Parts: sequence; C-alpha cells; structure tokens
Amino acid sequence: MASAARRLDLIDTTPAFAPEDAAVLEARFAGVETGEMLDVLFAERPFESIALVSSFGAESAVLLHLIAQRDRNVPLIFVNTQKMFGETLAYRDALAEQLGFTDLRVYRPDPYLLAQKDATQLRWSYDPDGCCDLRKVEPLRRALAPFDAWFSGRKGFQGTTRAALPRFEEDEGRLKVNPLADWDKAQLDAYFAAHKLPRHPLEAQGYPSIGCAPCTSVVQPGEDPRAGRWRGWDKTECGIHDPVF
Ligand code: SF4
Repeated sequence: MASAARRLDLIDTTPAFAPEDAAVLEARFAGVETGEMLDVLFAERPFESIALVSSFGAESAVLLHLIAQRDRNVPLIFVNTQKMFGETLAYRDALAEQLGFTDLRVYRPDPYLLAQKDATQLRWSYDPDGCCDLRKVEPLRRALAPFDAWFSGRKGFQGTTRAALPRFEEDEGRLKVNPLADWDKAQLDAYFAAHKLPRHPLEAQGYPSIGCAPCTSVVQPGEDPRAGRWRGWDKTECGIHDPVF
C-alpha cells in the first residue's frame, strides 16, 4: 500500500497499489456501514493522496455529500468531454458550490488530439470507443496522475455489468474506492431526501443515467437504468471502468 510504496506524482508513476491491497481492504470493511468506512479511511489514510471523480450525473450528489461531510478540500475532478448536457454543467457548478468543495478541477480533451482524431466532432457516431478514449479516458488519466487513489460513484445495481462491484479495486496501480458499491436505488433516494440534495434536472425527464448528450437517451420503465447509454451499440462502459460481472 501507499505507506510501503513510493509516492505517485507526475514524474514517478510507479504503481503503488496491487490487487491484493484492494482485496485486503475489501475484507476489512466487509459489512461496515459506508459512512463509518469513510471515517476510518480519512482517519487512517491508507493512500498518499486521493481525489473524488464525479460525472455530476443523476445520483452523484450522494457521494459528493458523503465526502464533503468529511473533507471539502478533497480535489474534485470533473472531465468535461465537451459533449455534455448544459444542464450537467450548471448542476456541477451549483452542487459543488452548495457542498463547499474548494478544489474543483475540470479536465478537457487534449486540443491537439481532438484536431487529429475528431476534427468533425462526430467520432461518437461511428466509433464511440475511440471517442470515449479521446474525450474521457485520456483526460482522466492526466487528471489522476498526481494521485494514488480515487473515489468513484459507481453502484452495483446500475446494470448487469456492475453487478459484482467491490468497494475497493486496483486500477492502473491506483486504489479505486467505490463507497456506494452496495447501495440500491431506495437507499440513494432516502439519502437525497434526508439531506435535501438537489436532483439533476434531467432525471425527471426520464434519464436515470446521464452521460454525454449524443450518447444518452431516455430509459423506459422496466429497462436497466443504464439502458439509455450508447443505445444501439454493444457498449456499456466508457473505458474508465471495466465491466464487473
Ligand atoms: S459518451 Fe459519447 S460523446 Fe461522450 S466521450 Fe463517449 S462516445 Fe464520445
């Protein structure tokens, strides 16, 4: 783990975490309530530096609130693919301000790579994997370079590709923490209500999962919550996360 490993920064990208480290943490916190687990993590800090990555999607407010209650100075990373809904950008600004985050970091695709690989801005329509690599994966990799750990808001119930989601994962040598891995929709809704958190404005319009505008469509009753993402394509994740079956 970080205490026994070299620190990650822009120069030294030696992996600090191994899958075994994630497994140890998974076992240690089995059955421990999420808030209590976060309290221990922030107290013991089994990492050198951690960031919170948020898409400011439909349920993002829950994890943002859980973290803000413990440390508002945690770097908050948002990747603006430049294909986002305007509503998401407005929600991001309002929510980050409301929760008091002090270090919102917005990353965008590399302009040189965009010119090389998506000059028409239409790559999403014929090569969504390539578009996600360019607009999401590469900027996030840049954003995470100084950190050896990050919080992700993924939930196991969100779809069959996330069903077996653990709370702790190793990802490119970093510790990826999924505090909401075992939360269901009812828990999330109860948390929203208890803390009077604002909803993403598109949720009420039939979008239970919200990504980029060209690749997000309305979900019908009974469909998988992520069914509206890349509809018609054999694609379930943007490349930031691997499917966890
Ligand atoms: S979700 Fe769509 S528009 Fe956004 S980066 Fe991926 S393919 Fe491109």
